[in-house]
Amino acid sequence: MSGLPQTVSVPFLIEQYDGFLLDAYGVLVHGAGPLPGAGAFLRRLEAAAKPWLIVTNDASKTPDIAAEKYRRWDLDIAPERIISSGSLLPAWLSAQGLAGAPTCLLGPSSAQPFAGGNPLLAADDPAWEVLAICDEAGFDFLAGMDAVLTTAIVRLDRGLPLTIVVPNPDLIYNASPQQYGFAAGTMASMLANALRLRFGADAPVPIALGKPHAPIFDAALQRLGSQKPVMLGDQLATDVRGARSAGIDAVLVGTGVVTWRGGLPPADERPTWLLSNIDDSGVG
Ligand SMILES: [Mg+2]
Repeated sequence: MSGLPQTVSVPFLIEQYDGFLLDAYGVLVHGAGPLPGAGAFLRRLEAAAKPWLIVTNDASKTPDIAAEKYRRWDLDIAPERIISSGSLLPAWLSAQGLAGAPTCLLGPSSAQPFAGGNPLLAADDPAWEVLAICDEAGFDFLAGMDAVLTTAIVRLDRGLPLTIVVPNPDLIYNASPQQYGFAAGTMASMLANALRLRFGADAPVPIALGKPHAPIFDAALQRLGSQKPVMLGDQLATDVRGARSAGIDAVLVGTGVVTWRGGLPPADERPTWLLSNIDDSGVG
């Protein structure tokens, strides 16, 4: 029958794979703390000598700050183990010839290093050429979105260049196990829809760096260096799709945004396995 993914256990996965890429939100943590068993799961990977990395679409803070937060939650995760969508931004700006370009960065001050030293301008300053939509927090959301919309329209009306990059394309996230929040991808989508109304096919399309897109998987797989890696995540459209297009197996973990509803998603979003939670040491 079927090709329906089977539910497996943590010991089974440790047996099967020699390296682990781990989504953070919905797998190890939610917005307010660790998920049950997160610390023990990481110690288990260590004990089995399996290399692992965190691969997260978070673009609100640098890996150093993220590691500090994890430490406060009793999770021992070194900054070198964290590959975030935000940390890809400086190299991307350089590769696009946008190093030094005046930039508006939406997000908290802890995201500002991702601008890679580009001068940072206010949302309503018509001189910015790059809009980096990093995070939904850290600014007055509606006023900020209205200001970037206005500035974008002014610039495009004048025929001035405008690049929109959204390191984190996630639409929503888990603020806590029972609470959801809109994420940066929703902001990019709002803005893109609005600009398309006015500029049609000439409207700039936001460029995404995080999962499911290749840049973050390329960086993670290179750093992990495993022969048979697997990705654990809670979202089909980002974690699973991205892993499958990177050519690796994917596990959908049931503690986050997506609940497995049975049936078969399209092949490029089909997890190899299902795992109820990382605390699950049941019989594999
Ligand atoms: Mg997640």
